[in-house]
Amino acid sequence: MPTAYRGRFAPSPTGPLHFGSLLSAVASYLDARQQQGTWLIRIEDVDGSRCSTDNQHAIIKTLHSYELFSDEAILIQSDRYDLYQHYLEMLIARDLVYPCQCTRASLKSTQGLHPKRCDSDVLQPHSWRAQCDIGIFEFTDPIQGPQHFDVSQPLNHPVLKRKDDYFSYQLAVVVDDHVQNISDIVRGADLLETTGQQLWLYQQFGWQSPRLCHLPLIINENGDKISKQNHAKAIPNAEPKVLSSVLHYLGFKDIPSDYSIAQLLVWATERWSRQQLTQANLSLSENDQVLIR
Ligand SMILES: [Zn+2]
Repeated sequence: MPTAYRGRFAPSPTGPLHFGSLLSAVASYLDARQQQGTWLIRIEDVDGSRCSTDNQHAIIKTLHSYELFSDEAILIQSDRYDLYQHYLEMLIARDLVYPCQCTRASLKSTQGLHPKRCDSDVLQPHSWRAQCDIGIFEFTDPIQGPQHFDVSQPLNHPVLKRKDDYFSYQLAVVVDDHVQNISDIVRGADLLETTGQQLWLYQQFGWQSPRLCHLPLIINENGDKISKQNHAKAIPNAEPKVLSSVLHYLGFKDIPSDYSIAQLLVWATERWSRQQLTQANLSLSENDQVLIR
């Protein structure tokens, strides 16, 4: 792992930036800045069937309106097909992945899970799945506490490249975090679910995983996570009040009410601590519901 702190915020342009994503962006930014680290923006548009350049431009514009600028050129995953292909071929050469032609219907008897090799005909259209059978990974998350992942529970071989030629998020995120020398990942706790498979990939490549820190999730009054899937609305650009709300949910107290966005970021950087947060979900107050719908 690199010694210098390098963090990143990596949104998927499947919709505009919503309140929950701004919270992740600000937390990762403050964490990097406080440690005099580098902070990067990466656009995770590897699933071309769900992403758009309009959303990508809107997300970057919103981040910039909150004074969140990438320290290096913004990396766009859809430009990196050859790189992911290179690493996929490394796994193919080691027989760690195999061609699969299974369909949702054919996996019905296993509830959609793909627990063992099928080794389909490589000459027919197929996806590539990883034989992710064995691996126990443990680490202590600064916010979520001790984490234990056993990739065999439940046994499910993930797709690394789809039949339609798109690479999976799992492969792209691991390759990019490694290639970009990311030392620290601060992201939403919803991504803990797939962390075990990512750690398995790090192990196969012989790479050390970045340090991981998972933020509590913002939930609405029904207890649902705020996400594009449940139509969280776009946040307005350049609103100090919205940034103040983000800081409030990140555990800051006595936030100055008359500061500009730039001043708020400096103020928060000086005070930021991961210990401000616990693993409990962050429930939006009634007044703040307006931020998400
Ligand atoms: Zn299969």
